[in-house]
Amino acid sequence: MKQSKMVQVLCKNQKMRFVIAITLLTLLGFISTSLISYFVAHQAVSKQITQSALPLTSDNIYSEIQRDLMSPVFIASLMAQDTFVRDWAISGGKEPQPLIRYLSEIQKKYKTVTAFFVLDETRQYYHPNGVIQTIQPGPVINEWYFRVKKMPTEYEINIDHDTANPERLSVFVNYKVFDYNHQFIGATGVGLALDKVQQLIENYQRKFNRVVYFIDKNGELTLRGSQFSANAKTLQQPEFKNVLDKDTTTTAASFQYQSGSHTVYVNTRFIPEFNWYVVIEQTDDAQTKKLFNSLMINVVVSIVISIIVLVASYYTLAAYQRRLEYMATTDRLSGAFNRHSFDILFEQHLRLAERKNKPFSGILLDIDYFKAINDKYGHVVGDEVIKQLVGILRQQLRESDMLCRWGGEEFLILLPECQIAAAVDIAEQTRKMIQGFEFSQEIKLTASFGVAEFNIDEHPSCQEKWISDMDKALYQAKANGRNTVVEVC
Ligand code: GH3
Ligand code: MG
Ligand code: MG
Repeated sequence: MKQSKMVQVLCKNQKMRFVIAITLLTLLGFISTSLISYFVAHQAVSKQITQSALPLTSDNIYSEIQRDLMSPVFIASLMAQDTFVRDWAISGGKEPQPLIRYLSEIQKKYKTVTAFFVLDETRQYYHPNGVIQTIQPGPVINEWYFRVKKMPTEYEINIDHDTANPERLSVFVNYKVFDYNHQFIGATGVGLALDKVQQLIENYQRKFNRVVYFIDKNGELTLRGSQFSANAKTLQQPEFKNVLDKDTTTTAASFQYQSGSHTVYVNTRFIPEFNWYVVIEQTDDAQTKKLFNSLMINVVVSIVISIIVLVASYYTLAAYQRRLEYMATTDRLSGAFNRHSFDILFEQHLRLAERKNKPFSGILLDIDYFKAINDKYGHVVGDEVIKQLVGILRQQLRESDMLCRWGGEEFLILLPECQIAAAVDIAEQTRKMIQGFEFSQEIKLTASFGVAEFNIDEHPSCQEKWISDMDKALYQAKANGRNTVVEVC
């Protein structure tokens, strides 16, 4: 195992856990912020629709309706008040032509589909084309007249088949006509083509991008545009029934309900002139989709940033960790292991050796007369010599061997799976190499070696004994005149 790899073994998993925790925290932070802002924005959109957009649209549509549909009411009102019409009716309607001309002029001038007058006395139905029929009680198509006669209000708006053209549905404004003593003398009014009115609603819908329709006070649909069927659910909502139950003086009401995954916002407004409600509906589709898209973008950005944080913090931490581990376990001058890491790695070697039942040996070496080199050349050169010595030692070692700076100029080499004889050979070769090497400043030096095998059969196996054996052998080598290898006997 290389020295760097041995160092990494010392602590590893904590780093991964720390990086994962940082990444999860970052991701959690991002995603919770995105979700909170999504829900806040969603609420704001909902509030904006109910409190501002929809009531504003309702106001706009109301004024457009007044402009577009009120004019027929005014025309009918003028016809009912017209003294010519009333005088003609009071006189018994002997001459039909003047009234027919009058109705024809109204129809032409105001571009209505029809203009009519029913004289109560004779029940004759006058039309720009002439006297069309006599209104008799009984047929459904004639019911309107008897309803108008009895109604408490002055006029009504209703959708009915045209008496002059029963195939065609029209929107009628039916006005009561009174004599000067306030006696009912007939009914007059105009009719608008239903498809024209529907076009108006379609225009509102397009212009305001909302669904618009009308209902009467019984909750019956009166006028609608083409999109209506998709939203018919509104009429079944309890809130809607509340609106109808309320006094009509409450002119506007808003509510919302859930339809599938969408929220439908509804605004109703009573139009007293028609005795109808206009209903304006809107779903939050477009806005919600936009919000949801931006939420998705946020989430993707969060994930990408979190991955960048993960990768960046992993590599930064790994680099720092490597440096710290190196500093904590390695001797700065020589690059060999220090004694602290030797202790840890020795334990691993010992366990491995015991498991494999393979002995290992150690060499303790010390430079001879190193003090003299320091004295003569100075400490800087002494340091350089130590570094060069480590270079020589490394050349002699296998990857699995472990070199440790034991003291000042004293090194311990652990040789796994190596018996004493092989260890002595290695020590001898090393001794020769050192002896033959020319260090900086042309310094020549020698070293003494003490070699010992670790006895794994001895229980308990003892590190102190092994080291002390090497120490003794080294001492002996010094005593024998230095530059020599001594194995423990
Ligand atoms: P011998 O071992 O042969 O008995 O003689 P020696 O002169 O080498 O004696 P000893 O081992 O007792 O002395 C070691 C000397 O090494 C003393 C100390 O100044 C020097 N030394 C220890 N560490 C360093 C170091 O990191 N750099 C330098 N330049 N000198 C060191
Ligand atoms: Mg020495
Ligand atoms: Mg020494």
